[in-house]
Amino acid sequence: MIKAVTHWFYGFWTGIKATSIGMWTTGKHFFRQPVTIEYPEIQVESMLPERYRGILHVDMDICISCRVCEKACPIACIVIDDVRGEKSSVMSKITGKPTPKIKYPTRFDIDIAKCMYCGLCVEPCPTGAIYHTRRFEGTVSNVSELTYRFVSQEDLTLADQMSKELEENERKKAEEKKKKELEKAKSESTNL
Ligand code: SF4
Ligand code: SF4
Repeated sequence: MIKAVTHWFYGFWTGIKATSIGMWTTGKHFFRQPVTIEYPEIQVESMLPERYRGILHVDMDICISCRVCEKACPIACIVIDDVRGEKSSVMSKITGKPTPKIKYPTRFDIDIAKCMYCGLCVEPCPTGAIYHTRRFEGTVSNVSELTYRFVSQEDLTLADQMSKELEENERKKAEEKKKKELEKAKSESTNL
């Protein structure tokens, strides 16, 4: 009899204890900050880590068209076309110093649909022109829209202008050289 009563109380106590632990665990959630984010109502880009690798962007103002990024990409996402032009310089974000520029892009496309966000194109860029943004939303209805084209009409105008300047300067140099050669030949014939 005593054994049965003890067993009953033990069971009763165990039940109370288990229920209390469960209620305590559940109760704690009433006072916790929520851990879920109501995306897309809440802007999450600013919450991403500093080195987050989102969709690539290219600052064409400081791109020197060295094509290092194009060569570094293991799956050929980047396509660059350019023209040679008169020398100028851009301010590198990496070194903080002027970097010479002798080529001007006429095309700078990145196929974001193919890109695997490895960052291999970003690392070697000498001016910091290509970089990962925190953008991750790229939904489009046609996959061709995921080829991002960074060359603007202004970049094309600049490329054209610098290429003409280079042609003109090379033409002048060639004329000068020819003139000097003629003068030299003339003076040599006079001395004979
Ligand atoms: S590595 Fe940088 S500077 Fe060179 S082409 Fe690419 S984006 Fe432009
Ligand atoms: S992040 Fe990687 S895959 Fe994407 S363009 Fe750069 S090198 Fe290519």
